[in-house]
Amino acid sequence: MRELICISCPMGCHLKVEGDTLENIVVTGNGCIRGVIYAKNEITAPKRMVCGTVKIEGATQPVVSVKTKEPIPKEKIFDCLEQFNQTTIFAPVNVGDVAISNVCGTGVDVVVTKGLAKK
Ligand code: SF4
Repeated sequence: MRELICISCPMGCHLKVEGDTLENIVVTGNGCIRGVIYAKNEITAPKRMVCGTVKIEGATQPVVSVKTKEPIPKEKIFDCLEQFNQTTIFAPVNVGDVAISNVCGTGVDVVVTKGLAKK
């Protein structure tokens, strides 16, 4: 049995999870169906949002904050951060601009979270 805390809403239900495949997972302690979905994803294919910075040229500061637009597979997090380190974008940028397309082959884009003007 595994215990998880559902992070799908601020209630933070304490989930108890039996089983390890989509077919045999049984979840208790959930306040709603989203807890079951969260637990099944977490057990079979955990994903995370990744936040960080990339270098930016031509702006008033050397780096700009970015995040993945959607969660990516947990095992790709370090490769994703490495790609952040190797990326340079150019000012001006607006919130939501794509800084990295299809990061690490995940099909997920990395977007800018802070707009920066040209200096
Ligand atoms: S199980 Fe439902 S109510 Fe509980 S934390 Fe998850 S989303 Fe919120």
